[in-house]
Amino acid sequence: MQTIIDMPANTQHYLELEEQYGAHNYHPIPVVLNRGEGIFVWDVEGKKYFDFLSGYSSLNQGHCHPVIIKALIEQAQKLTLTSRAFHSDALGEFAKYITTLLGYDKVLPMNTGVEAVETAVKLCRKWAYKVKGIEENRAVIIVCQGNFHGRTSTVISFSSDPLAKNEFGPYAPGFISIPYNDTKALAIALQDKNVAGFLVEPIQGEAGVVVPDKGYLAAAKQLCEEANVLFIADEIQTGLGRTGKMLACDHENIKPDLLLLGKALSGGMMPVSAVLANDKIMLTIQPGEHGSTYGGNPLACRVATAALEVLQNEKMSENAATMGNFFRSELENIHSPHIKTIRGMGLLNAIVIDHLDKNAAWKLCLELKENGLLAKPTHGDKIRFAPPLIIDKDQVKQAVAIIAKSLTCLG
Ligand code: PLP
Repeated sequence: MQTIIDMPANTQHYLELEEQYGAHNYHPIPVVLNRGEGIFVWDVEGKKYFDFLSGYSSLNQGHCHPVIIKALIEQAQKLTLTSRAFHSDALGEFAKYITTLLGYDKVLPMNTGVEAVETAVKLCRKWAYKVKGIEENRAVIIVCQGNFHGRTSTVISFSSDPLAKNEFGPYAPGFISIPYNDTKALAIALQDKNVAGFLVEPIQGEAGVVVPDKGYLAAAKQLCEEANVLFIADEIQTGLGRTGKMLACDHENIKPDLLLLGKALSGGMMPVSAVLANDKIMLTIQPGEHGSTYGGNPLACRVATAALEVLQNEKMSENAATMGNFFRSELENIHSPHIKTIRGMGLLNAIVIDHLDKNAAWKLCLELKENGLLAKPTHGDKIRFAPPLIIDKDQVKQAVAIIAKSLTCLG
């Protein structure tokens, strides 16, 4: 139940509306936002906050980036949707831009992140039957414990989070789960000749920014190659500059066979996701076998192209790398007894709270809100800190001062 007592009247009004008329499938911080610019958002009372969640890493470019807004408005005034029954002048240009930028033959555009995951599962299976020669309906995809790949019934079938999974069965078969960051377990699982793919997050974001050992991804990629298994990187949260390089996989110089992007692909404007692959995989799917009414719509294509251009032109990956190092070193200087761990890469970071009160992370987020910074706990005791990638040094210092001050509320 949302705590909605002691709120200013305006805020209370909107909280009550959502409580009464909206499904209760989220537990938001009780703040009602109505404006965003760069790294800041404002609530309906006019109070300003640092946004340290960035729409779960969808707002890498900052709120309402003027270049992306311009692309959005210009295209919205011309043509928004054709469906894929017809061509548009935007899809081909977007496809050329993103495949050239990321070094793949083809892109398959979808909308939400989980649709990109579903698309990858389907592509991987088609490839397994048509190219690898696995007997039909026998293909297996290896996933990792602690994963978060979205909320559809197939995808929650291979979640290890009871909250995401329980009482949503029966579950889809065809997945086996191994420990994350464990190449030995992967090598054993790959001995099954029906394995078609290995689906992995380069950093497990929702699990609380779990960063694997250096070399894990490269070793996993190598094992997959040796077993003729597709390496599928879910970079929906880690991609597009978030970790200090365009892709988190770039830190280990590996190129996934299937690359999944979403979230910041539209700079927070609308749902746009994409799967990238080379022809030998992508062309296994033929007309009529997969698609989406909105996938690749002209508005999404122009917005996504602008979102990628902005990331490149404004060197946001580089800034994420520098500011991420600075942010973590400033956090280390707080020396709070309540911070058990500080971890992350680039501007995808988390702290793990050490406290007897199991609601301490939630309480801290409420205090952060009071002091002008928005963040959200994940899995109880972890708080993710992932501001837009345009944050500067002074702003990092101000944000860390708020975090230090707020921590005192935990005693
Ligand atoms: N994959 C990862 C790694 C994610 O972090 C998320 C969302 O948090 C998804 C997939 C699902 O994306 P969406 O919520 O857009 O379906």
